[in-house]
Amino acid sequence: MLYRPIGKTGMSASIIGLGTEHLDNRPYELCEEVIDAALDAGINILDVFMPGTPVRENIGKALKGRRDKVMIQGHIGSVDIRQQYDRTRDVILCRQYFENLLRCFKTDYIDFGMMFFIDTEEDYQGVFETDYIDYVLKLKEEGKIRAIGASSHNPKMAARVVNTGIIEILMFATNPAYDMLSHDADIGDAMEGRIDRSEYDGIDLDRAHLYRLCESKGIAITTMKTLGAGKLLSPDFSPFEKPLTVAQCIHYALTRPAVVSTMLGCSAREQVLEAVNYLNLSDEERDYSEAIKTPKGSLSGHCMYCNHCLPCPADIDIAATIRMLDIASLDTHNIPLRILEEYSTRSYKASDCIECGSCERKCPFSVKVIEHMQRAAQVFE
Ligand code: SF4
Ligand code: SF4
Repeated sequence: MLYRPIGKTGMSASIIGLGTEHLDNRPYELCEEVIDAALDAGINILDVFMPGTPVRENIGKALKGRRDKVMIQGHIGSVDIRQQYDRTRDVILCRQYFENLLRCFKTDYIDFGMMFFIDTEEDYQGVFETDYIDYVLKLKEEGKIRAIGASSHNPKMAARVVNTGIIEILMFATNPAYDMLSHDADIGDAMEGRIDRSEYDGIDLDRAHLYRLCESKGIAITTMKTLGAGKLLSPDFSPFEKPLTVAQCIHYALTRPAVVSTMLGCSAREQVLEAVNYLNLSDEERDYSEAIKTPKGSLSGHCMYCNHCLPCPADIDIAATIRMLDIASLDTHNIPLRILEEYSTRSYKASDCIECGSCERKCPFSVKVIEHMQRAAQVFE
């Protein structure tokens, strides 16, 4: 397993995490099998958004004696009143469900207290303009959560949450299909195939901005919907020419700026093994660059950080260099120190480019790499 630092928290997450929603309404034995497989593979981060007591008790029981081996993303405001998933900002209810989570897990802290599902203006106001936020801040102060996070599917709203300066980790819906839809588009429609393939039109700028913003501020992203609820793997539902593989979807998520872990929902041991098998695959097997070309081909010019252009005779890590340049371009007068340090530690820098053009011939997205290298040299050197 590989691990990435979670922003400024001092903690590190396995690049593949476990989403536990598919353990809901399933027998304990299955829950134990999946949790065992995940921990055996070195997975150290679990997402638990489900509000129901039985599934929480099952996960808590499966983790018995191993609580310290995993970090939990627990969601504050996820409820199941009237047997239906819902979100609430009512502090009494939030407290009831949060205390229940601690009880089920037989623990006195949750690693990441995620402010649940902030997608709309109403959500934002419900979180930041009521006593809900006071409750969350108090949980942190009391040590009942180690860091504050949030979850969202909406890039504009997520960026607004990031800009409050309160969160340290963001759970965001990330996959190539979502990234290529306008933030106004209905994600449910997209995944049900109700959006015509011709509508997919290059990476949504709000999404690209969110990833860069998080990286520039040192906010870690964990991803949900990495496989698009499995639809990206299906020739019938994928919006792309061909279905993607699990490994391509994971690689796509892990090559977005700021992403530290993909939280994959697994309902069987085999699914955990298939996910972690990503670590054993070659660059070619992970490469998603050809698979996510859109009918309009309008990803053109935007680096997708896919590394399809390697090898570079000057040994430049082209995707990483363009990613750093993209983040620096948010505000060239105020480039995050982390990015400057990351660039300075590179053995081969943009100025080493010999302008051979090999990368531009290989890039499926017609990125003008040489111009990017020239600009990176100006900005960083
Ligand atoms: S320049 Fe092209 S091939 Fe290279 S990482 Fe960017 S998108 Fe991929
Ligand atoms: S043009 Fe520059 S960055 Fe591209 S492969 Fe050649 S040396 Fe590397």
